[in-house]
Amino acid sequence: MSGAKREVEDRLRAERHSRTLLRNAGAIRQCEVHEDVYIDNDEHGAVEEACRVADAEIAAGSFPLPKAVTLREVMDAVMAEAVEDCPHCLKD
Ligand SMILES: [Zn+2]
Repeated sequence: MSGAKREVEDRLRAERHSRTLLRNAGAIRQCEVHEDVYIDNDEHGAVEEACRVADAEIAAGSFPLPKAVTLREVMDAVMAEAVEDCPHCLKD
């Protein structure tokens, strides 16, 4: 596997894990119908809460954060994907 491909996969893994933490913290939620759509809950402090959990996991070595990116970058990338309303549901 090439280094670049590996970097992308590591980053995707980190984003998936961050998404789980953000969901647990209530920052985002899955659309009830469309599992691939994440909706921004706009919950105050929820992203910070997820970051605190992630920081603890990084310290414990259980968070798969690649060296090339910061936690904030990964969290921001996940939150940037979250939408206000599910576009598929709006169409129905
Ligand atoms: Zn939907």
